[in-house]
Formats: sequence, structure tokens, C-alpha cells
Amino acid sequence: MENLKQLIREVPDFPKPGINFYDITTLLKDREGWRAVVEGMRNQYVSTGPDIVLGIEARGFIFAPVVAYELNAGFVPMRKPNKLPAEVEKIEYALEYGSDSLEVHRDAIQPGQRVLIVDDVLATGGTAAAAALLVEKLGGEVAGLGFVIELDFLKGRTRLEGRPVWSLLHY
Ligand code: AMP
Repeated sequence: MENLKQLIREVPDFPKPGINFYDITTLLKDREGWRAVVEGMRNQYVSTGPDIVLGIEARGFIFAPVVAYELNAGFVPMRKPNKLPAEVEKIEYALEYGSDSLEVHRDAIQPGQRVLIVDDVLATGGTAAAAALLVEKLGGEVAGLGFVIELDFLKGRTRLEGRPVWSLLHY
């Protein structure tokens, strides 16, 4: 895992002063690094067997569809406002820098379906907590929340209490 960390570029003061940005593009372009990330997530969740892997826009869209394919699950996008064409459920949330909202199609998740939520970074947990609440609002069960990177010092997982959280890499 330390090898994988070497593939992640850390950019200080992006997008604003005080934020140390973990840039995964340097990991994605490395064929062994990319494979290790996908295999790590697949191995973690193959026994969970979710019905759906839900990706959070935008960087969750890089990982979630590939993990869904590997797990023989469906893929559902959770998007920024006003992107989805049909009826949506919506939630507003605060993040490490600024605030935003997320939407998902009402018919994307059926009551009782087991949903794995995937994103690149767990920081303050605001985004992931909002995604989990939205899944639960539609009657879905959050079978897991999986991240490539978790910033342990921000204690984001405390906002996800009661739900299984896992991350490939910890900082
Ligand atoms: P949060 O809601 O604070 O957990 O923020 C999570 C979202 O913001 C994730 O979707 C990340 O893509 C992004 N993010 C937050 N902090 C960072 C960071 N230090 N480096 C890279 N991405 C970040």
C-alpha cells in the first residue's frame, strides 16, 4: 500500500490555501496502480455482494462503474444538481471546501436493495453522509461505503456511524 501512496500526488493549497489535495490522476495512469486499486475494492466487497454500486459525482464515477462490473452489480450515478433528467431525490450538504447538493433518480434504487457507495476520498464525511441518507431515503440499505483514500485526521467516519466504512489507503 505504501507503493500506491507513492503514486498519489499531493498538491498543497489546492483548490484553496490550507487544503492538501490528494491527486489520484497520477495513480490512475499507472497500469499496476490502477489494477491494484480495482482489485483491492473488488476483494473487499466480493463477499458483500451488493445489488448496486453507487458512485458520487465526479471522481466516484471513475471507480464505481468498474467495481460494479467486477461485482456483477448495477451502477447508479449520484449527481450534482440539475443533471439528471427524470424525477429525483435531493439532499444538501457541507464539504471540506464549500457546500453542494446531490441528486439521484427516484427509481434508481428499489426498497431493500443493498447499495455500496464508492468515492475517491473520505475527508470530513459530509458528502458520504449525504449520499448514505439519500440511499436510505429511497429505502436502500447501505451495505458499505468504500473509498480509495481516507483522511483519518478529519474523522469523517464518525459521521457515517452504524454503516460499514472501508478505505484502501489511510493518511
Ligand atoms: P468530504 O465531504 O469533506 O468528505 O469531501 C469529500 C469529497 O471532496 C470527495 O468527493 C473528494 O473528491 C473531495 N475532497 C475533499 N478533500 C479532498 C482532498 N484533500 N483531496 C482530494 N479530494 C478531496
